[in-house]
Parts: sequence; structure tokens; C-alpha cells
Amino acid sequence: MTRRSRRAGEPFQPDLLQGQSIAVVNAAFLADAERWRLQFRCDDCANRRADGGCLYDWPNDVMRAEPFAVVGADGTALFCRAFEPDGS
Ligand code: SF4
Repeated sequence: MTRRSRRAGEPFQPDLLQGQSIAVVNAAFLADAERWRLQFRCDDCANRRADGGCLYDWPNDVMRAEPFAVVGADGTALFCRAFEPDGS
């Protein structure tokens, strides 16, 4: 397992990769999401607008991209922390 050190003033970033490649982590997430029927994207969010945008005006292209990537090219999470299930 690899760990990044955290410097004072930097936001905490969990090590989502834990020694694995970005592609492996993203593929594993999508497999788990399908297996557990996870809802985490704009289409299932109470904050989506009818035109596909976000009520909070978050730039949500990443959340709507196909295929979805939970980890970006720099290893940081692309997950939307403002997701709220719409109950559907
Ligand atoms: S809060 Fe996040 S998941 Fe919900 S519509 Fe906005 S960008 Fe999408």
C-alpha cells in the first residue's frame, strides 16, 4: 500500500488507488455499482435540472460522462459529494 503524506493546509485526499492502476479502480467501481445497483449520478439525484444540469450549478460533465470514472487521471475522486437520492 502506498500512502501520500499530507502537508499542513492541504485538504485530505484519501489514497483511492492503494497501489492499483486508475483503470483497475474505475472498472472495479463500475462492477460494484452494477452489482449493488448503486445510485450516485445526476440522473438519480434530487438536485438535477430537467435540462440535465445541476441545481447548484456544479459543472457535472464528469458525473454524466460515459463510462463514468470514479477516479480521475491525477488519482483524485471525481465523485459528487452533493449527490442526494431522488427516491426513484
Ligand atoms: S448535486 Fe451532483 S449528482 Fe446531483 S445533479 Fe448536481 S452534480 Fe449531479
